[in-house]
Amino acid sequence: MKNCSIIVSVYNEEASLENFFEACSSVLNTCRAGSKKDSACEKIVEKYHTEILFVDDGSTDRSPLILDRLALEYPELVKVIHFSRNFGHEAAMTAGLDYASGDFLIFMDADLQHSPELIPEMLEKYEEGFHVVSMVRTKNSSAGILKNLSSAAFYWVLNHLSPLHFEANASDFFGISSAVQQVLKKYYREKVRYLRGYVQSVGFSKTKIEYEAGVRQGGKSHYSLRKLWAFSRNTLLSFSNLPLKLGIFASGCSMFLGILLLVYTLLTRKGAPSGYATIVVLLCFMFAVLFFVVGIIGEYIALLFEEIKDRPIYVVSKTMNLPENSE
Ligand code: UDP
Ligand code: MG
Repeated sequence: MKNCSIIVSVYNEEASLENFFEACSSVLNTCRAGSKKDSACEKIVEKYHTEILFVDDGSTDRSPLILDRLALEYPELVKVIHFSRNFGHEAAMTAGLDYASGDFLIFMDADLQHSPELIPEMLEKYEEGFHVVSMVRTKNSSAGILKNLSSAAFYWVLNHLSPLHFEANASDFFGISSAVQQVLKKYYREKVRYLRGYVQSVGFSKTKIEYEAGVRQGGKSHYSLRKLWAFSRNTLLSFSNLPLKLGIFASGCSMFLGILLLVYTLLTRKGAPSGYATIVVLLCFMFAVLFFVVGIIGEYIALLFEEIKDRPIYVVSKTMNLPENSE
């Protein structure tokens, strides 16, 4: 029998956790009972032993209690990792990556925006031989225009800066085989992380399933625009070194402008148009470019600093139904 791990990141999700577990186990049980007669479900019944691995990312509400209760009630099905504090969604998914023991791993959110109903379809793709199953949003019902627009802009810039191709609207809902898990676990240990990006750029055979992201069931999104901006900026910088070359481009432009003025002066024997405004505008423009370039170098140094300190991506305080030292 093959194993499937469903990895769920949880941060203050008391409002939706029980509903999520219900929905998830109902998909698995319905399939197990064989009452749903489609082929993907039967495959789960016959071939997979499933574990749901919850990663509690330092929740401060009742989520840890709910998780511990589920772990005690369903020791075969539910496994829990508790972090010592909040380390962020990427860290939570990384812990899932490190601890999951399945042949196929499915990553999803706890707020039911990622429907458990799609699990059989993902397993079916894995059965067909795909190592990476990306879930691509066709519509995100709960995101506003601003979030949708900034997401589109982010992918446009990322795809233009990076030599790799990233699927726009790919989500943190995806499935990977244990072969991909091993590669990511061993070689992708960056501190500033973008797991969804690694999954798309690691290679192996890939497929995608389109789905409509649902509305968040209770609670509120943890990604403010400020957090999204920080996340997007770090991702762009860590997947491309093109911004670093902006300095060379800017110095080229500056030199070109200088030569143009020199040639103009020599040919016409007239000075460049003079005046306070011209000089100040030119100075401000040049300094803006200069500080922008210095700022970008600063951003890369900050990223390097994060990596070089080599602090842990997450710290586990307690696990439930997991062997010690699964990492
Ligand atoms: N999450 C987490 N740690 C965090 C923030 C979020 O583990 O610091 C989890 C959260 O519980 C949810 C998933 O990551 O299951 C996605 O977060 P959220 O729904 O807030 O993001 P959105 O769907 O709004 O992008
Ligand atoms: Mg969500």
